[in-house]
Amino acid sequence: MNVKSAVLGGGLTGITLARLLHEQGEDVTVLERDTTIGGLCRSITDAGFTFDLGGSHIIFSRDTEVLSFMLSVLGGNADRRKRNTKILYKGRYVKYPFENGLYQLPDEDRFFCINEFVKNLIAVEKGEVPPPENFAEWINYTFGRGIAESYMLPYNEKIWNFPARRMSHHWVEGRIPRPPVEDIIRSAVGIETEGYVHQAVFSYPVTGGIEALVHAIAEPVLPAVRTNFAVRSIREESGGFAVSDGRKTVHAERLISTIPLQNLLPCLADVPAGVQAACDALRYNSLCSVFIGLSGDVPDISWLYVPDPATGLFNRISFPSNYSTAVAPAGHSSILAEITYNDGDTVSQMTDDAVIEHTVGSLIAAGIIPSRENVVYTGVARQKFAYVVYDTGYLTNVAIVREFCRERGIDLVGRFSQFEYLNMDGCIRSAIDFVGTNG
Ligand SMILES: Cc1cc2nc3c(=O)[nH]c(=O)nc-3n(C[C@H](O)[C@H](O)[C@H](O)COP(=O)(O)OP(=O)(O)OC[C@H]3O[C@@H](n4cnc5c(N)ncnc54)[C@H](O)[C@@H]3O)c2cc1C
Repeated sequence: MNVKSAVLGGGLTGITLARLLHEQGEDVTVLERDTTIGGLCRSITDAGFTFDLGGSHIIFSRDTEVLSFMLSVLGGNADRRKRNTKILYKGRYVKYPFENGLYQLPDEDRFFCINEFVKNLIAVEKGEVPPPENFAEWINYTFGRGIAESYMLPYNEKIWNFPARRMSHHWVEGRIPRPPVEDIIRSAVGIETEGYVHQAVFSYPVTGGIEALVHAIAEPVLPAVRTNFAVRSIREESGGFAVSDGRKTVHAERLISTIPLQNLLPCLADVPAGVQAACDALRYNSLCSVFIGLSGDVPDISWLYVPDPATGLFNRISFPSNYSTAVAPAGHSSILAEITYNDGDTVSQMTDDAVIEHTVGSLIAAGIIPSRENVVYTGVARQKFAYVVYDTGYLTNVAIVREFCRERGIDLVGRFSQFEYLNMDGCIRSAIDFVGTNG
């Protein structure tokens, strides 16, 4: 088979690239390892419950072009909801972001947070605090010790499964804004403040879970998608590349990879040891998603952050049945718990049954599930590549691998191909920009 462009990977990025190239009249094929498209955006419907396999997903963006693209492809299959997000802190539901919910903290904790915020701000403005050199220092520098120790550090160390002092902070500017002191004081005395307004409302497919978005994008290009094609080898040949899964070969003038760098490099011959070492050093987290179907209701919350390790292994609990009423049977509701892990750690060695038992037990203890009798469905899904972790070696290592791929003439687009913390909107933006420049 000969094509102009082969796109490796049929997740959201690969499918979006294929659609955009197809719209430009280009001959394109998508090669996807799994039996279905969607990657991290796949969903499962079972016993009347729909869950997102790669953790709970919602549709939101500051990028108005991308947001309207996502909503327009979904057409009538999109529900819009107001975000109601909380942090579970010492048994209380505290408004998210934490710095906007200080009035809900116990008195001593509220004092600790505001006092340290103000002391730190004065010290920073006087130039007494050196600029941060890692993520832990950035958190203290931005929020002060109170908010840092009460929420930011424990939450971040849980989700990244890695010490914050060994993480880089280059990626947080703009993603986690420094709250104005007025907002901190307002929030501490109980005057309403809103953070992260770009997420104040969000959308979600009425039926089919987040995978419905990928299918809606794929609609005009489905014939160009080859599933069950796990790319194993990539050979340069005159005028392009030969891509093979060990049985079939696709010849393409151009190669756009959306698969993880860790899966791409083994397909290539003569990878220099230094490049391989840089790729091996790139850090990522795996994800275990725990699905729970319940009889009766769940709290009227979109999702709940859980910083305290004593509450459970999960860093976040979402309530998909609050995104769309069609994702749970009538009279039922649902919970999706997310647990990050790495090869060799405790969670990686727990059986699915043990993870379910831990999650259900912890949620009953936290008062989120009334009793075991309410649990009518459970399930687990694991994703090897879930989060890029920006450790302190990241910038150096990623630059080495990117440069190598550039020299080999392979374009990189997507979350684990660019190896960037890209949400769905960031992936679609990358695809639009790529096709705009290289289409
Ligand atoms: C817990 C969690 C929650 C999230 N929540 C949100 C959210 O609420 N909103 C949001 O906008 N974004 C969210 N995201 C981010 C979103 O999931 C990603 O941005 C997006 O799905 C990445 O798409 P991708 O196509 O770049 O990568 P992937 O989805 O990883 O796709 C890569 C594809 O390549 C395939 N592949 C791998 N190796 C090979 C091979 N050798 N040959 C062929 N194919 C191969 C894989 O099977 C996969 O289909 C979340 C992510 C996580 C982990």
